[in-house]
Amino acid sequence: MPAGQFSGKVLRTASAFASKPLGASKRWAPACNCHRLDRSTRHLAQGHRAPLGPIASASSRRITLAASSAMAQDLGTAPADSPRIVICGGGIIGCAVAYYLAKRGTPSTIVERGSIACASSGKAGGFLALDWNAGAVGDLAEHSYGLHADLARELGAERLGYRTVSTLAVSLSARPSRHKSGSKVPAWIDGSVVGSKMMGDESSTAQVHPEKLTKAFMEEAGKAGAKVHQGTVTGIKLSHDSTPRVQGVEVGGEVLPADVVVIAMGPWSKQAADWLPLPPVSGQKAHSVIIQPSSPITSHCLFTQISGTKSGNAEPELYPRPDGSVYICGESDSVGVPDDPLSIQPREDACDNLEAYAGMVSSALREGATVKRQACYLPLSPDGTPLIGAVPHVEGAFVATGHSCWGILNGPATGACLADLILDGSCSRVNMKAFSPSRFASRKARR
Ligand SMILES: Cc1cc2nc3c(=O)[nH]c(=O)nc-3n(C[C@H](O)[C@H](O)[C@H](O)COP(=O)(O)OP(=O)(O)OC[C@H]3O[C@@H](n4cnc5c(N)ncnc54)[C@H](O)[C@@H]3O)c2cc1C
Repeated sequence: MPAGQFSGKVLRTASAFASKPLGASKRWAPACNCHRLDRSTRHLAQGHRAPLGPIASASSRRITLAASSAMAQDLGTAPADSPRIVICGGGIIGCAVAYYLAKRGTPSTIVERGSIACASSGKAGGFLALDWNAGAVGDLAEHSYGLHADLARELGAERLGYRTVSTLAVSLSARPSRHKSGSKVPAWIDGSVVGSKMMGDESSTAQVHPEKLTKAFMEEAGKAGAKVHQGTVTGIKLSHDSTPRVQGVEVGGEVLPADVVVIAMGPWSKQAADWLPLPPVSGQKAHSVIIQPSSPITSHCLFTQISGTKSGNAEPELYPRPDGSVYICGESDSVGVPDDPLSIQPREDACDNLEAYAGMVSSALREGATVKRQACYLPLSPDGTPLIGAVPHVEGAFVATGHSCWGILNGPATGACLADLILDGSCSRVNMKAFSPSRFASRKARR
């Protein structure tokens, strides 16, 4: 298969088509936290875990409000005994952490190299599923799915682009066919449909506008004193104690004093492996286009498999949005993550392909107008499970990254749980053990 086309590097779920025929039980639907990625990494996301390393428990290195009072510095509206918390990265994960810290009365500072939601958190689809993940990620996703509904109630569904949706798997042929399949699909899906199946209804699937949610998190956190510091994090300043302690974050040749640091730089969290005992995170590039259809369509989200395209089978995902546009993603590339998030460029032929696939699904999309062509990177942990929790061997260091194709879904729960871990040293919402970076603990902190 030509480079750059679908060759097993599918995004979310369409690989399900390959293994189970349409019409099989709901179990054929995606059941892992990595089902849109390279199939070679799928087993890692399905429960295989690296053994936990021999490190101290999270509670032994927690920074409680009381314990940190000696180190605390006034931070705007911060209570006098608040720890100085610096979050590296202003994507959905960093902003969710800031939001849930703020909800507990604790302000923070986000250091962001570009602008809030400038990377995948501003370019993702925003599809949410209650029960498409298994194991620990399944628990996180279930909690987060509920938080999304709470957020829509509290902050406004329209503000966040949130709505519940029905979701279909649709199998099509790229070649026009006069034969009608008899599949029950909404009328706007007028391509050569071969089969279809419900994957979720309004009780189990939903969507949000990722950029709107990320920015709303930051705006709300700002009301409680959180700040954005524009700059590039280049290192973490640690004490020379036997167990090093976070003292600050290096930004633009200066040190921003901090008692607690959170690494939430998405695929750029890889850089933090040079500063803290963390495994290297990687990234996978994927493309998306947004099309304004020529006529209104329903809200059904689609996971498609299109056979007979010029590059073989294609598996684009289509998410109609409340504003009437349709987000279409797929076309992943195995290229390295560029140093500067703002320098990411989409491959034009990948976007051409996505537009062509959309046209094979619906004439309203074929005749519609493209409003955006873009690319971004999924953040991948080495074993496919997100890294969320205290960094081993370093007092005051935390990480939250590696959410792969479910960072928008799992952003709220990640933020809420990490806020609990930072402030209390434990989290009763979700069992966070499987996410602990201590599972990779053999690396030593560099000072
Ligand atoms: C095409 C596509 C579609 C997707 N669709 C969905 C979906 O439908 N549902 C879903 O749940 N998930 C989806 N995802 C996944 C989701 O987008 C990601 O998991 C999530 O956005 C990751 O958020 P993040 O905050 O970890 O990283 P990012 O959004 O990448 O944010 C990291 C931030 O760190 C900043 N940064 C980097 N280096 C530095 C530095 N040195 N100093 C300061 N700041 C720095 C960057 O500028 C960036 O703003 C999709 C992803 C892609 C690629």
